[in-house]
Amino acid sequence: MDQKDFIIDTQSEFFTKKFQVSLTKREPINHDSYMFRFDFKNHQERLGMQAVQHIKIYGLNMKGEIVDRAYTHVFEEDGYFLIPIKIYRPNVHPQFPNGGELTPWLENLELHSDLTIKRCVGKLLYHNNQFIVRPKLNKTWQQFSTVLLICGGSGITPAYQLIRTICDNPNDNTKMVLLYANKTEQDIWLLKELNELSDKHKEQFTVHYTLDKSEENWKGHKGFVTLEMMTSIFPQPTETTIGVLCGPKPMNKLVLSLYEQFGLKKENIVKF
Ligand SMILES: Cc1cc2nc3c(=O)[nH]c(=O)nc-3n(C[C@H](O)[C@H](O)[C@H](O)COP(=O)(O)OP(=O)(O)OC[C@H]3O[C@@H](n4cnc5c(N)ncnc54)[C@H](O)[C@@H]3O)c2cc1C
Repeated sequence: MDQKDFIIDTQSEFFTKKFQVSLTKREPINHDSYMFRFDFKNHQERLGMQAVQHIKIYGLNMKGEIVDRAYTHVFEEDGYFLIPIKIYRPNVHPQFPNGGELTPWLENLELHSDLTIKRCVGKLLYHNNQFIVRPKLNKTWQQFSTVLLICGGSGITPAYQLIRTICDNPNDNTKMVLLYANKTEQDIWLLKELNELSDKHKEQFTVHYTLDKSEENWKGHKGFVTLEMMTSIFPQPTETTIGVLCGPKPMNKLVLSLYEQFGLKKENIVKF
């Protein structure tokens, strides 16, 4: 199929229908995160979405009200998919005594319970070596030669999906450079997977880490993302460079402005 013929029907049942999956596993990744496994009722079913599309999970907040949040799977096979999820617990952060609305519910949900999910269109879509930015606005396809990615903490999941999809596609030579920011080394998700991808696809993908708090022997970058850090690791932007970002709100605000200072065109900066 030609890219021009690829139309995303945002009103189709695929994107609008809510359906039930079961929570079948919840394995700790670190002090505040788990890898969740969700199983379909039908053992042949898959999410079957394009790279960088996400799902919505519905659950309950402390008041018993229905809330939904976006999540990106990092693995799927017939019948199930995996999503790493960071839990925002109550009574941990003085500014947020109640913690997050949805994730404490997900942490306490009994195994083999059913929950409601829905597929979402997303803002950026990758299909046949090409990107489409904001499919909801029916923008035309744009192909990029270089993808710069700046992610914070759990914001790595959509970036990982994109990186893996491009690396797995032998017909796609898009170059990617990731700057992944975390509080501590223990907070880094998918470290092994990211390092393996960059080792295996040296010419195509490089990954750099920065930490707020690091041990003496830490070899990566230190502190918040800065323009100097970006200049030292990213290639000079061109017309065909896209900068994507996904992190906590304050970090996103900083990164949006840094990407512009770095020289990226506004329309080529996309928040997942
Ligand atoms: C496209 C997309 C994909 C995403 N994919 C993933 C994913 O794969 N995995 C994932 O974990 N998340 C992902 N997220 C984030 C996710 O959607 C939720 O925002 C997140 O799980 C928090 O939800 P919540 O309802 O628990 O917290 P909310 O009620 O939304 O509050 C979260 C905010 O409250 C504050 N807060 C509350 N409690 C604490 C605390 N104890 N410590 C520090 N701060 C606190 C922080 O500012 C935090 O950012 C994704 C988001 C998007 C937009």
